[in-house]
Amino acid sequence: MLLKDFIYLIELPGKMFLPNINVYLINCEEPVLIDAGYGFQESTEKLLHEIKRITESRGLEKVVVTHAHPDHFAGAAVLKRELNVSVAAHKLAVPVLSDLKKLTINYYGFKDNVSSFIKLFLQGLCKAEPINVDIVLDENDEIKVGEYSLRVIHTPGHTPCHISLYLEEKEVLFSGDVVVGEGTTWIGLPCGDVAVYIDSLEKLLKMDLKLILPAHGPVIYNPKKRIKELIRRKLSREEEIVKLLQEKPRTVEELALALYNEQDRYRLLWLLNVVKAYLKDLERKGKIVYRWEEGRKIYSVK
Ligand SMILES: [Zn+2]
Ligand SMILES: [Zn+2]
Repeated sequence: MLLKDFIYLIELPGKMFLPNINVYLINCEEPVLIDAGYGFQESTEKLLHEIKRITESRGLEKVVVTHAHPDHFAGAAVLKRELNVSVAAHKLAVPVLSDLKKLTINYYGFKDNVSSFIKLFLQGLCKAEPINVDIVLDENDEIKVGEYSLRVIHTPGHTPCHISLYLEEKEVLFSGDVVVGEGTTWIGLPCGDVAVYIDSLEKLLKMDLKLILPAHGPVIYNPKKRIKELIRRKLSREEEIVKLLQEKPRTVEELALALYNEQDRYRLLWLLNVVKAYLKDLERKGKIVYRWEEGRKIYSVK
């Protein structure tokens, strides 16, 4: 779908609990794609078809991966093979994109079962494979798109390697997962950090923005309002945790159950990492403390 000027939105499918993802094609002389979707056939077939249709068989020059999550990078391996594109990503993404083991340990926090997570989730479900980055990006680097350029804005917090891309002349921001069109951004340990995430949002608030094009959810026509809402939601979650701890001291598991009312054991395990990220931030702010009791960490207000 043509969104604005030369920017096309391609919606790529998810699967089971994996969300759909928006990737964006900038259709200039040397077309550039932002994010690549998953690596499974339903997604890559649609992507290749749309690239061919939109660029009228000019192909693709490069794909910029906003961060090292499989919904964003897995399809890039197929684009490299089929269209010989260059892959660009932030310098901090380079070691984890080229090594799924490192990605599993550093970004998903697995110490045991590393190879089964790779086999079942990354390779099995997402069809991800390791990728060598051709163009290593850093803050303020420029990527040419026709007569304009995309500026790299480092926006960590969701992952350390996360970048957004700013098309300054049009005041358009490709926000990846840092600003999402619906719900909130997932911030969980070990690679997520609430304070760093809020700093990234504050940084975006200072920019001139007319439009945000997120990787998930609808296009954002009111950028400042949406960014402020995301900051508020993270802070109000923290207030909620403090209130629960004022009632009585609790463990991470007890907090997760009280906050999310999630029955699914598997999803609850993921949510523990989210609660841990909030707790880390609250601890740093000096609002809460913990003590060990029979091998369990018990949190309470200071
Ligand atoms: Zn992500
Ligand atoms: Zn995502």
